[in-house]
Amino acid sequence: MHAVRFHEHGDLEVLQYEEAPQPKIEANEVLVKVKACALNHLDLWLRRGVSDWKLPLPHIVGSDVSGEVAAVGASVRRVKAGERVLLCPGISCGQCEMCFKGLDSACRSYTVLGVFVDGGYAEYVKAPEVNVIPIPGGLSFDEAAAVPLVFLTAWHMLFTRAQLKPGEDVLVIGAGSGVGSAAIQIAKAVGARVIATAGADWKLEKAKALGADEAINHTRQSISGEVKCWTSKRGVDVIVEHVGAAVWEECSNSLATYGRLVTCGVTSGGEVKLNLQGLFGRQRSILGSFMGGKAELLEALEFITRGKVRAVIDSVFPLQEAAAAQRKMESREFFGKILLHP
Ligand SMILES: [Zn+2]
Repeated sequence: MHAVRFHEHGDLEVLQYEEAPQPKIEANEVLVKVKACALNHLDLWLRRGVSDWKLPLPHIVGSDVSGEVAAVGASVRRVKAGERVLLCPGISCGQCEMCFKGLDSACRSYTVLGVFVDGGYAEYVKAPEVNVIPIPGGLSFDEAAAVPLVFLTAWHMLFTRAQLKPGEDVLVIGAGSGVGSAAIQIAKAVGARVIATAGADWKLEKAKALGADEAINHTRQSISGEVKCWTSKRGVDVIVEHVGAAVWEECSNSLATYGRLVTCGVTSGGEVKLNLQGLFGRQRSILGSFMGGKAELLEALEFITRGKVRAVIDSVFPLQEAAAAQRKMESREFFGKILLHP
């Protein structure tokens, strides 16, 4: 099959479009012919190399896949060849305490499709049957690939971690990112008020079109200043954040008493200063969040099929042009998901 692999870590030029062996399935696994694969920032981290993580090389990234079932293992019963499916990106053991609790991403053997196992920058990918979800409703392959990782992440951040309630005020950092565009919609759909940030005016317009009540251009406006103005100095109840160091102080200054800041990424760096006095005095919480459980993805998909929220697609590239697609992601000149078509 054709795939985009890297044999060493590095810049965009390490991505090679080449022949690779087709994955061989075990009895409990499903082979999927990839129709669409969405990019995530994770792909860029993995390509550059993450200290502590020793990836098998050559490696194929890609965590968000939709496609058609090409073959099933001997013990697979629920899905059949030809079925339109999407893949839940989180792979866990399915038989530990955390898995039983639905907290898959806290499983000690948890990994993500495209991290320690080959992912979807390829014509074929394999996954355990338990990760294979029939595409619901009338979702297209592109929409189905644009959903899993970011909706799962945003759902877990807002509900499981931050315990968002109707009527609360939510600040979403980075409206144009996959997680940002999902979080804006989910928070609005459950009756929150949403203020979103982005670095370009065209992105602010798109954030408002998705339902954001207010939008801040962080290149020329103070986030905390605008938040205080918008909330009559009270601050927001929940902050959804994945940028890290560059926005940390502004986020800290935007949080209401009893506010919850939930973070799922450090694209601008992970070292920050913490004022403990503000934390305990105003009874705030800082929460980490990583992926989510399969049940949460099913809940999010139900929301999507009911038309409450939708996948946001920026652009589509042929698989051969994976490097150009990743360059676009690095440039930040996008809003929503960038997809690859094998
Ligand atoms: Zn487990």
